[in-house]
Amino acid sequence: MTDKIKEIDARAMDACSESFRSIDSISHYCTEKVLNAFSEQRISEAHLHGSTGYGYTDIGRDALDKVYACAFECEDALVRPQIISGTHALTIALFGMLRPGDYMLSITGSPYDTLYDVVGINEGTGSLKEYGIGYIEIPFENSEFDIEKIKEHLKNKSIKLIFIQKSKGYLNRRTLSSKEIGDITKVIKDIRPDIYVMTDNCYGEFCEKHEPVYYGVDLMVGSLIKNAGGGLAKTGGYLAGTHECIERCSYRLTCPGIGRESAATGEYLKDFYQGFFMAPHTVAQALKTAVYCANVFKSIGYAVNPEPDSKRYDIIQTIALGSPDALIAFCQGIQQGAPIDSFAAPVPGDMAGYADKVIMAAGTFVQGASIELSADGPLRAPYTAFMQGALTFESGRLGILKALENIFKINGKSL
Ligand SMILES: *Cc1c(COP(=O)(O)O)cnc(C)c1O
Repeated sequence: MTDKIKEIDARAMDACSESFRSIDSISHYCTEKVLNAFSEQRISEAHLHGSTGYGYTDIGRDALDKVYACAFECEDALVRPQIISGTHALTIALFGMLRPGDYMLSITGSPYDTLYDVVGINEGTGSLKEYGIGYIEIPFENSEFDIEKIKEHLKNKSIKLIFIQKSKGYLNRRTLSSKEIGDITKVIKDIRPDIYVMTDNCYGEFCEKHEPVYYGVDLMVGSLIKNAGGGLAKTGGYLAGTHECIERCSYRLTCPGIGRESAATGEYLKDFYQGFFMAPHTVAQALKTAVYCANVFKSIGYAVNPEPDSKRYDIIQTIALGSPDALIAFCQGIQQGAPIDSFAAPVPGDMAGYADKVIMAAGTFVQGASIELSADGPLRAPYTAFMQGALTFESGRLGILKALENIFKINGKSL
């Protein structure tokens, strides 16, 4: 490491201390919630062994649902290895809650890319649209709810579900706090108590003391290879919310009539339990890495979002790198700092559903797990890297320093 890089690192570490204290305090609070949930459900060794076949009377699976519900402060939950991803969890929720003739209304603009086929914005086979379910979105301009438009649409009784994406995902927008989501939910429910409000909670879990369901959202969903799996879950997703929503979704997750009674958990349960126990701590490691990254890159003149000291409601950090070379150098540095495939150099490639080439760095133990240190970005101005994760802050810091070194190599003027 050059003296210049050592100095940037030291300054960034100093600048992090206050944010780190607040991250530690949230992690402490959430760890207590999770421990209380384990204790209330009297989790024992017997719960950690999964089931086979139909998975009837799988006490570990049923108790884990209750542990999630308890820690997330809602009535009920479904946590399953059969949920293959966040997109699948969202799909189960949408198909579980909506019926032909109904409309869903997104009030945070366009949903996550992979939902375009699910909703039918792209002509995806088996989409909601094919089943006669409509989709309307209200732009999320300047990252604010358009309350007047929302109220106007609520007069339409066919609208049965309001969709809110908490995290900015890969968009240039603000991430919402759970409380803000709760506030808009209250406005909506005052006008239409019959409507369901759901939240795409991917990347949001344990970044704050409370989740959106605590503030009145009916249903939220997420992936176990992001925050809630704590870096240990090998696959899976969850849905959490009211009894009514969870029951409806259970018949879509498996079959009408069977619902939550069946689903073998194989070898997955122990990691799900231990991962959920670890999750508040693991999320804190990712948040610290994000804050550190923001401090490092801001100090050398790059635009970062969120700002180093602002409150965080998800684990994503963006850095506008300004040139294709810098974006590639950044992602290659993150890859070099990874425990797995550190020797591989990611290059931009075409990806289904994206207009521009995309570069992705992920040297992860679990394929594609973005709770582990990872970065990606589309090759278009302002050449923004979306960075998230790190199972340990130590490794996150080292990865960021590799990215910094790489950028200095191609970008001599910054030295
Ligand atoms: C990751 C993510 C999803 C779904 O992702 P999968 O890759 O299918 O797990 C949905 N919404 C947001 C905001 C996300 O970050």
